[in-house]
Amino acid sequence: MGEAFSNELAEAQVERFALLAEELGEAVQIIGKILRHGANSYHPNDADEVPNKELLVKELGDIQFAVELLCATHDIDEALIEWYRVEKIKKVEQYLHHQEYAMKLYRRRWPYSAPKAESEPSSERREG
Ligand SMILES: [Mg+2]
Repeated sequence: MGEAFSNELAEAQVERFALLAEELGEAVQIIGKILRHGANSYHPNDADEVPNKELLVKELGDIQFAVELLCATHDIDEALIEWYRVEKIKKVEQYLHHQEYAMKLYRRRWPYSAPKAESEPSSERREG
């Protein structure tokens, strides 16, 4: 038998992480529906005909709350999230194939986001 293991989380912390996991799963499910049926499609049994893109927005709001709850309680570091966001922009932009216009809009909306990476373009990009 193995030694007793504890994740060393308080019940309240477990609940907050569980909430985030649940909301992330719900968002992934809706993204699957968008990819399979379309952003403007809705469930045939939904009398309100709420489109998938609105369902996704709802789940993203749920995720935002779950993240903010973890930040408010210092379970996770809000400043570090921002640091990783900027790092993500720097790393991923050179590998995006169809987001030039979207990134222009993004930088207009969030002008203090990461500068464009100055690394060599990827081989994929040079070929395309
Ligand atoms: Mg939800």
